[in-house]
Amino acid sequence: MTGSDRHGKLAAVPVESDFLVLGSGIAGLTCALECARAGRVVLVTKDRLPESSSRYAQGGIASVWSPEDSFESHIEDTLVAGDGLCHRDVVETVVREGPDRVRDLIALGTNFDLRGDPEDREYDLGREGGHSKRRILHALDATGHEVIRALSEAVRAAPNIDIRETHLAVDLLMERGPGSTCWGAYVLDRDTRRVHRFLARATFLCTGGAGKVYLYTSNPDIATGDGVAMAYRAGASVANMEFFQFHPTCLYHPAAKSFLVTEALRGEGAILRRPGGEAFMARYHPGAELAPRDIVARAIDNEMKVHGFECVYLDISHRDAEFVRTRFPNVHQTCLRFGIDMTRQPIPVVPAAHYLCGGVVSDLDGASALDRLYACGEVASTGLHGANRLASNSLLEALVFAHRASRHACARLREDRRRWPDIRPWDPGHAVDSDESVVVAQNWDEIRRFMWNYVGIVRTDRRLARARQRIGLLQDEIREYYRDFLLTSDLVELRNIATVAELIIACASARKESRGLHYTIDHPRSDASWAHDTVVRRREGNGVEVLSPGGRA
Ligand SMILES: Cc1cc2nc3c(=O)[nH]c(=O)nc-3n(C[C@H](O)[C@H](O)[C@H](O)COP(=O)(O)OP(=O)(O)OC[C@H]3O[C@@H](n4cnc5c(N)ncnc54)[C@H](O)[C@@H]3O)c2cc1C
Repeated sequence: MTGSDRHGKLAAVPVESDFLVLGSGIAGLTCALECARAGRVVLVTKDRLPESSSRYAQGGIASVWSPEDSFESHIEDTLVAGDGLCHRDVVETVVREGPDRVRDLIALGTNFDLRGDPEDREYDLGREGGHSKRRILHALDATGHEVIRALSEAVRAAPNIDIRETHLAVDLLMERGPGSTCWGAYVLDRDTRRVHRFLARATFLCTGGAGKVYLYTSNPDIATGDGVAMAYRAGASVANMEFFQFHPTCLYHPAAKSFLVTEALRGEGAILRRPGGEAFMARYHPGAELAPRDIVARAIDNEMKVHGFECVYLDISHRDAEFVRTRFPNVHQTCLRFGIDMTRQPIPVVPAAHYLCGGVVSDLDGASALDRLYACGEVASTGLHGANRLASNSLLEALVFAHRASRHACARLREDRRRWPDIRPWDPGHAVDSDESVVVAQNWDEIRRFMWNYVGIVRTDRRLARARQRIGLLQDEIREYYRDFLLTSDLVELRNIATVAELIIACASARKESRGLHYTIDHPRSDASWAHDTVVRRREGNGVEVLSPGGRA
């Protein structure tokens, strides 16, 4: 078979490996390292290696570490946050295996903060909203940076990991038969603009979240829901997409792009105030500033909508200035760059889309419903978070499931005798170069805006119906565009964002109650008969099939 030099056409020879890892955040890097013990790994990532949400994690990793803490307490806090939808077996597994996975990170050279006398040092454990104990291991307020540094160094040093940066997975390579088997992915080389086949015996979706589906987000630009969209198109089940967590406090400044002000600030006593200086959180929850983050986000959203505030203020200026500077150097320095000295004045903040609790349905081994396809990290719906994520549980979840999925895939590899099926090269059909990239930008902007306004922190049936109508029209336009023009990364991401928007709208419309992160004015209370996951799948032809709408599971 020969390839063509036209971009968008395939290169003739597929890239073959035992394990294909898509994404280089905490989940992808961990999978790559674990799998490299058993076989050859190809690690594909659409930007540079460290670029990921993981890298920007500030608060830290929740894990039972101190003698005053217990597994039972962490399990209970997670279940309470999840508002009736957590899968207890998953919560127990993640919490109990957590300390070992954190020890793995420490053994790799990750430096978490210590405190105490030089002869008697112990890990400095932070506390965040929803946690009843101090259990957050952190590296100042830039934990993700330190974790990704250590993992990236180990991955770069591993001899049998082939790293492909600026390569973007477009679609999964599927063999259709009695079951559906995933044999890798079509991958766009963003530099040459060619689409290649990457064949593998096991594929790990570690592509992270989808914050870019909303106008305001704490997520970096890579968070376009590619993994969820690819798995959905391939036939996997997707669940609980209505549960999108909004971080209560992103820096509000015209020049600041999605900078998150860590919740650890509230853990250390910061107070939320109206522009006039009045504290308001005690009106919304007995825990005031330490209420779960969705309650804090909704309270801020309400304050802004009712009083017409552009933002509210987070104030830690009453704490010792030296403590603030040394405990939060990243936030302090960033605020200073925007002319705000947080040791002396409050920080202007607004809520922003932060974390996708739903995703590709996966089991305790991280396996999806599609044979040979695993999903780890934010892309997955494991059952840990239920209707709401407890702060700092996501890095932990990614570590535990990356480890479990890798072990499962490595064990399977030892007995795997199957030959590659014949997978067709990428066929661009009659697609040509687009001279109208403005269409992509316009559609992208429109989706993010109506998702923010109609499917944001507070929802109604009518707003959801409007959003459904809009996304239907845009999907038609995007499908046409996708067929007619050669691939660019922007076009691939637009298509994925549109799919993610469609799934969020479908799940939110199916759930006729308010629970966890899903709040709707038309059904303001939670109802025990809806205490089930919302599971959806692609319908033959087109459209979303809702398999288990809340109470009818
Ligand atoms: C600002 C911020 C602060 C946070 N703070 C915390 C915290 O303190 N504690 C906590 O537990 N959680 C925190 N979170 C959440 C947590 O960081 C994420 O849930 C977690 O890092 C997700 O890890 P991941 O490996 O699944 O995905 P990511 O780290 O997002 O990595 C995804 C990777 O996939 C790549 N990718 C995506 N699509 C494709 C494609 N099509 N082809 C190839 N590659 C692709 C990306 O480039 C990236 O490398 C925070 C999130 C943000 C944004």
